[in-house]
Amino acid sequence: MKRYGDFITSEEDLLLLTTIRKYIDKEVMPVRMQMDEDYAVFEKAYGGLVKLGIQKRGFSQRYGGLGIRSAPTVCALTEEISRGDSGLSLHVLIIPWAMAAAMGARNTTVMDKFIPMFCEDTPRCGCLAITEPAGGCNIEDAAEHGLTIRTTAKLEGDEWVINGEKMWPSGASVADIYCVVCTTDPKLKEEGLALIYVPRDTPGLSFGKPEDKMGMKVTDVNAAIYFDNVRVPREYRAGGPGIDWQLFRNNISWGRLSSAPMALGNAQAVLEIVMEYTSTRSYGGKSVRKHSLQAAMIADMAIGIESARAYYLSVAAMFNNRKKFGNPADDFLMARASAAKVYACDVTEMVCNRAMELMGSYGYVREYHVEKYLRDSKIIQLWLGGGQLGRLDVVQGCYPYVTA
Ligand SMILES: Cc1cc2nc3c(=O)[nH]c(=O)nc-3n(C[C@H](O)[C@H](O)[C@H](O)COP(=O)(O)OP(=O)(O)OC[C@H]3O[C@@H](n4cnc5c(N)ncnc54)[C@H](O)[C@@H]3O)c2cc1C
Repeated sequence: MKRYGDFITSEEDLLLLTTIRKYIDKEVMPVRMQMDEDYAVFEKAYGGLVKLGIQKRGFSQRYGGLGIRSAPTVCALTEEISRGDSGLSLHVLIIPWAMAAAMGARNTTVMDKFIPMFCEDTPRCGCLAITEPAGGCNIEDAAEHGLTIRTTAKLEGDEWVINGEKMWPSGASVADIYCVVCTTDPKLKEEGLALIYVPRDTPGLSFGKPEDKMGMKVTDVNAAIYFDNVRVPREYRAGGPGIDWQLFRNNISWGRLSSAPMALGNAQAVLEIVMEYTSTRSYGGKSVRKHSLQAAMIADMAIGIESARAYYLSVAAMFNNRKKFGNPADDFLMARASAAKVYACDVTEMVCNRAMELMGSYGYVREYHVEKYLRDSKIIQLWLGGGQLGRLDVVQGCYPYVTA
């Protein structure tokens, strides 16, 4: 595990990382292409990860979880799983992502009711529903103040009544619990944003057909979610006015930070494929890798991966030190989490493109898997505001902190 430098020191965390890498090498790498098409193959691979404790890794020991708190460890685990398949890694991440608001608000009603199922050995799924048919970036853009959210939540007696529609969320229809981004009144701006938990079997909740996508074809299920007078207890709102806005920003910041290792796992796998291929394929009397032109291309791929990894790990270490660096929802860390995602995704795109150039037609065919990593990683660049809003958050939204 040398590639994670000194960012991870706990013996237990290192042991878990080693176990996961071995599992990915043995159980996922040989079936990574089948997993692209066959949900049963994906389910089996995910089931194995659950048995190794990955589903409960971030939850408190009080609920039977492993209580892993280190952000660098969580990010490294994400990279290791993504090296096999980033849809698999996404499935693992959306559970704590969906439950984070309740944990951040210390909402014991929601935590006590829904966290224990994730600490069992049955494979589960969570969902954080942000995006709507009219757009995703505008809801994720703090400059819009929550004004563009169209999914509404009205309090009637002791229940929230939710109406509206979401589009694209990961885990839609397969998740057991949905954390839904709503507004109690758009005019209230940030104070109106509400994060409300909805269990899958709630009357009035229904789903569209799974979307047919370029990558993460079956490993992530994306569909429309419809809310037709969906009623849940008032305690299912994560925090309350203003608190939910902060928790939502926290979700965005964590989501962007975790997207960096998720993308880089793809790049690392592609680099490994390229190293192998260019050492056996030859032209002009020596292997492709021995030619200085191609060697320089591969070196740039490795340098990009190493620097993007070192950067996301250093931001993750800042996430762990709230006293010094503040909250992930604040501008200082939001800017850095956004930079980590933007840079890692750009590096991954460059690595996949270069791999194809280095491998010629063999890079383009399914047999060598580079095209799968390119397809899977592209969406990581596009979600959570894409490279454009990510860049704006580095330079505009968070500008005063660049010189800190
Ligand atoms: C596999 C997959 C998984 C996903 N998972 C989830 C999930 O778990 N939860 C969820 O809620 N959604 C999820 N999504 C949806 C995804 O996050 C959104 O599609 C994405 O954020 C972009 O939103 P959009 O498609 O509506 O594009 P738009 O918001 O319409 O953006 C279109 C273009 O305009 C730019 N743009 C728009 N507004 C702004 C702005 N304010 N500032 C700067 N640029 C802007 C964008 O960068 C982009 O270039 C997922 C999608 C896929 C395909």
